[in-house]
Amino acid sequence: MTTFEDLDLSNPLRNSILDLGFEHPTPIQEEAFPVVRSGKDIVGIAQTGTGKTFAYVLPILRDLKFSKQLNPRVLILVPTRELVIQVVDEIEKLAKYMTLRVLGVYGGVNLNRHKQAVAEGCDIIVATPGRLYDLALSRVLKLKSIQKLVIDEVDVMLDLGFRFQLLNIFDLLPERRQNIMFSATMTEDVEALIEDFFTAPRKIAIAVSGTPLDNIEQTTYDVPNFYTKMNLLNFLLFDKSEYEKVLIFAPNKRNADRIFNLLEEEFPGQNCVIHSNKTQNYRMKSIENFNEGKHRILIATDVIARGLDLQEISHVINFNPTQYPENYMHRIGRTGRAEHKGKSILLVTEREKEAKQRIEELMNYEIPLVTIPEPVEISSQLTEEERPREDKSQSNNRTSQEYVPGPAFHEKKEKNKKVNLGGSYRREIAKKYKKPKTRGDKNYNKRNKRK
Ligand code: ADP
Ligand code: MG
Repeated sequence: MTTFEDLDLSNPLRNSILDLGFEHPTPIQEEAFPVVRSGKDIVGIAQTGTGKTFAYVLPILRDLKFSKQLNPRVLILVPTRELVIQVVDEIEKLAKYMTLRVLGVYGGVNLNRHKQAVAEGCDIIVATPGRLYDLALSRVLKLKSIQKLVIDEVDVMLDLGFRFQLLNIFDLLPERRQNIMFSATMTEDVEALIEDFFTAPRKIAIAVSGTPLDNIEQTTYDVPNFYTKMNLLNFLLFDKSEYEKVLIFAPNKRNADRIFNLLEEEFPGQNCVIHSNKTQNYRMKSIENFNEGKHRILIATDVIARGLDLQEISHVINFNPTQYPENYMHRIGRTGRAEHKGKSILLVTEREKEAKQRIEELMNYEIPLVTIPEPVEISSQLTEEERPREDKSQSNNRTSQEYVPGPAFHEKKEKNKKVNLGGSYRREIAKKYKKPKTRGDKNYNKRNKRK
């Protein structure tokens, strides 16, 4: 196993790592280190909780020379203020033995205060896109010295609608710079951003293992269309003692709302929904209600549900197969945590069969097919999207096929394959990489929940 010694760190970094008690770099840290140092553009994909922050902070600090200049040389963009605080905190820990100025800025704080802080000078600025842009427009913040741009949680960034903001910021940055992006998943939006703005970045993807947890019982139903899926859902969810705590993954925001509204008719007051068009407050409330058992059913989209620490889910229902097979693994990993047996149900229409096959290929497992129970009515009603128009399936196929994980995803070193997908993932990682017990950070769990 690689140690931090193998990474060619500087002494100050070696010492701060020693203080942190980390023994080994995580796979993404190990692989990203030389690439970030090389100055090439890079996209790093690895699951939440795999240490992506240090994956870019370590190599950046390794090569950042002491300077007294006022304008920042490194810009790190993250989607939320919580993350600004967290990233600044992580950088400060690593830079403990260096002379380095880090500044975090985000909305909701008086702009003048940030202007003042910027005027004092910094080496690294960590920011949410909106606040960064405001500061740059005010001309207090000069971006002409930025050599490295990091966009962390790119997928969340795009899902939250920051694309336009990002483009505005790109315009203000020097053209000659290194672009560093990190994301937990490769989504179509991320791919589009890369294609439009970056030239051939090196992609580093730490594969999500295709081995499902043994304690998750998977089944699948062939269902002709959306409304039949709803009928089946209504039938299944009627059994409240079996379907105790259900997380339903919807393909997109629109369908999430649609499913929510229809389930509310059938099971009033038992449902909540989260996706990126809902306000932060609404989302927090929904999650709280679900966790506390006030609501039995939570409907969510992939990106927004990721990283949420949801406890003791009895069933994950996949309203559709995911475009990217890895995301299915992320989804079902939400149940079957700890000792509990979890169940996962996948609903598949004819059109979605290919996506299901890719999932089965990744897992090397054929999900047992269950026939739709007799009482469930087969609907002939079609949604707008399902009605035949131009051939929509074409475009769907194109993007999804582009991403059939090639051999690179699977020929990982043995240790990289051992990725636990369950809720215990973070704990496993901590064990594996020896998170020090002294890090009795009471905010740790809170933070994870927010992510
Ligand atoms: P991600 O961005 O991939 O979700 P983070 O960068 O937030 O993950 O890291 C998750 C946790 O793992 C943090 O508490 C971090 O301090 C810890 N961590 C990072 N690298 C290591 C390591 N090499 N060994 C042990 N713990 C680590
Ligand atoms: Mg992160």
